Amino acid sequence: MSNQILGMSEGTFWVVVFAEAFFMAIICALIANSKNRSSLGYFICGFFFGLIALIIVAVVPRVDEAFSQEQRKCPYCLGNVPVRATKCKHCGSSLVAKGVPDIAEGDLIEISREIKVNEQVAFKKGEKARVEFIDPDPERPENKYIVLSIDLNKRFRLSKWDMSFIDNVDFRTFLTRST
Ligand SMILES: [Zn+2]
Repeated sequence: MSNQILGMSEGTFWVVVFAEAFFMAIICALIANSKNRSSLGYFICGFFFGLIALIIVAVVPRVDEAFSQEQRKCPYCLGNVPVRATKCKHCGSSLVAKGVPDIAEGDLIEISREIKVNEQVAFKKGEKARVEFIDPDPERPENKYIVLSIDLNKRFRLSKWDMSFIDNVDFRTFLTRST
């Protein structure tokens, strides 16, 4: 009365099939993840299509090679990184500038790294400063934010990657507090 498939009882057969499908799904998901592709999508494909999904995920190109040809320079090490990278692949610096599109003239910002100009520390990391005005330089269009250093009472050109946006608060209040 017991059904036999490939010499196994039917129950054992389905356990083996399920285990194999699950194993393929995991392998496909891991490969997909390493290529910046959908691990869930490939997990499902691997589960149902096994070897076919494995072959597909093995041959598809990495996402960042296929779609992100646009490059920009990392402001810390000047290595080329994809425009949308959030972390530099060369030096590991975080390339995320919070609220970047919102930086406007008069905004209070926080300096995201120590910035030296001519061997002198112009801004300390975490220092707060004000974007006085925005003036793109044709030579260095990225460095279009003219920022006042309170400690030095000097103005510097910064890029959006040097700072993170805090709030659009009245800077005069801030100035009185910090002097
Ligand atoms: Zn870098």
